[in-house]
Amino acid sequence: MRIDILTLFPDTVGDVLSDSILGRAQDRGFITIRTHQIRDYTTNKQNQVDDYPYGGGHGAVMQADPLYRCWQHVCEETGVRPHTIYMSPCGAVFNEGHAKRLAADYENLCLVCGHYEGIDERFIEECVDEELSIGDFVLTGGEIPAMAVTDAVCRLLPGVLSDEECFTEESHWDGLLEYPQYSRPAEWHGRQVPEILRSGDHAKVARWRRKQSILRTMQRRPDLFAKLRLPDHTKAEKKFIKELEDESDEFRNRYAENLGKRE
Ligand code: SAM
Repeated sequence: MRIDILTLFPDTVGDVLSDSILGRAQDRGFITIRTHQIRDYTTNKQNQVDDYPYGGGHGAVMQADPLYRCWQHVCEETGVRPHTIYMSPCGAVFNEGHAKRLAADYENLCLVCGHYEGIDERFIEECVDEELSIGDFVLTGGEIPAMAVTDAVCRLLPGVLSDEECFTEESHWDGLLEYPQYSRPAEWHGRQVPEILRSGDHAKVARWRRKQSILRTMQRRPDLFAKLRLPDHTKAEKKFIKELEDESDEFRNRYAENLGKRE
C-alpha cells in the first residue's frame, strides 16, 4: 500500500512515520508513505494557503486550490485516483473496523490534514471520498489523526508485523479488550505474576487469557460487552461459558441480559 499525506508539516509527519516498525516496513518495501507540503502548490508569492471565511467569523480557512493542486500531483505521481480521506472532527469516528476495511480494500490512500478552521468545503465535495475523526474532540491540525490512521492501517498489512497473531490477538480485533500482560521479574513491588502464566500449560494460559479479556471488556467497555455473543455450539464452548458464569456473578447476570435483549 502507498499512503500520501497532504499537510503543512510534512517533515514532522514523515519523521514520526519513519521510525520503528513503520520505518522498517518502509525500508523493506512493504509500505510507502509520502508526505506533501501543501504550501508548495500555492500560486501566490507568500505561499499563503488560507484566507478569511466567507460570511465572517474568526480564524482562517484553507483554500481549495492549493489542496487541489497538491492532490492532483499525487494522482499524477501515482497514476491513480487514491481513496481520499479528510481527517475531520465532523467525520465518522475511526475504529479497528475502518482500519481493516482500508487495509483490505485500497492500494492507495491519500490523507488530507486540515488546519485553522478547516478546509474549503468545495475541495471536500470534489476530491474527498470519506471523512474520519479520531474522537469527539478538536485538535489544532489533522496531522496527529493522519498519523494515527496510517499507523493503525499499516500494521494490518502483510509483512509489517512479524505475523498475524501480533494483531489478531490484540484489543478490538474481535470486539474484546486484551487480557493483562506481564513480563519479568515474577515479583515486583510485592506484586506477583498470576501463577497460571508461569505454569507452562499453554491451553490453560489461553483459557485464562480469554476469560480475562471477556471480564475486562465487561468491566471497562459495557458498550462492547453488550454486543458480545460467545460461541456455544460445542460441549467445550458451553463449558467455557459455564466456568465464566461460576467465576463471576456479574458476568452471569449481564451476559444473560445481553442474550435476552438479542432474542
Ligand atoms: N472548525 C473545525 C470544526 O469545528 O469542526 C475544526 C478545525 S480543527 C481546529 C483543524 C483541523 O484539525 C481540521 O481541519 C482537521 O483536519 C483536524 N482535526 C481536528 N480535530 C480532529 C479530529 N478529532 N479528528 C480528525 N481530525 C481533526
